[in-house]
Amino acid sequence: AGELRFDDVVFAYTPERPILRGVSFTVPAGRTVAVVGPSGAGKSTLSRLIFRFYEPQSGRILIDGQDISEVQQESLRDAIGMVPQDTVLFNDTIEYNIRYGRPDALHAEVVEAARLARIDTFITSLPQGYDTQVGERGLKLSGGEKQRVAIARTILKAPRILVLDEATSALDSFTEREIQQALEKVSEGRTTLVIAHRLSTIVNADEILVFDRGTIAERGTHLQLLAKG
Ligand code: ADP
Ligand code: ADP
Repeated sequence: AGELRFDDVVFAYTPERPILRGVSFTVPAGRTVAVVGPSGAGKSTLSRLIFRFYEPQSGRILIDGQDISEVQQESLRDAIGMVPQDTVLFNDTIEYNIRYGRPDALHAEVVEAARLARIDTFITSLPQGYDTQVGERGLKLSGGEKQRVAIARTILKAPRILVLDEATSALDSFTEREIQQALEKVSEGRTTLVIAHRLSTIVNADEILVFDRGTIAERGTHLQLLAKG
């Protein structure tokens, strides 16, 4: 597992509108830190900076002490895993979709990842909407099932750092709970940054950062923040 550190990061998409105004925090190796805050607070911007889709105007982002501005974007993609809000699947088998990123993985590893994400009963199936010729191998996946494919893919990839971006936003509450449990399994013992809108969806973060207008307004454990109201 790796350590992720933001060191006084300042960022704006356009000069007249700062988004991050000197943000510092550390996700220690193997720990989970969650970021909450209102829409527009700059939470998703954090993940875009981690992947170097944008560069900070000042400050540094470090993975295991190394400034990511010195790391190739491709190596970052290997080191970081992301379960996005919406997963677009390739029109090939679920197994192919899980293997994406690690095509050389052993079949047993794919099965194990699928089992942890609880989609092992249909890994040879195809997501629906591709090939009408495939007959009964075609399958209509729900939003929750698609997300589980993304989770299995991430389990197989075993990244040093995991970024979960409000992964359960579009799901009904039963599915949301199921996905949450699968995600907790993925993040166990793995350095994880969770981006969420509501404090209530965060269960097992070691620290929660409350973002407000580009700064960390409050930080603490779930209990500490609840006590403050
Ligand atoms: P959050 O995830 O907390 O809702 P974001 O990080 O997505 O917030 O966005 C923070 C602010 O930056 C928002 O006001 C948003 O409109 C703005 N923003 C996001 N992406 C861009 C962009 N590519 N160009 C200009 N402004 C952007
Ligand atoms: P690959 O590394 O196999 O080429 P992708 O280019 O699809 O795969 O994505 C690399 C990593 O970047 C993945 O973990 C993916 O979830 C993440 N990623 C892709 N698009 C975005 C985005 N818009 N914001 C944040 N992360 C992203």
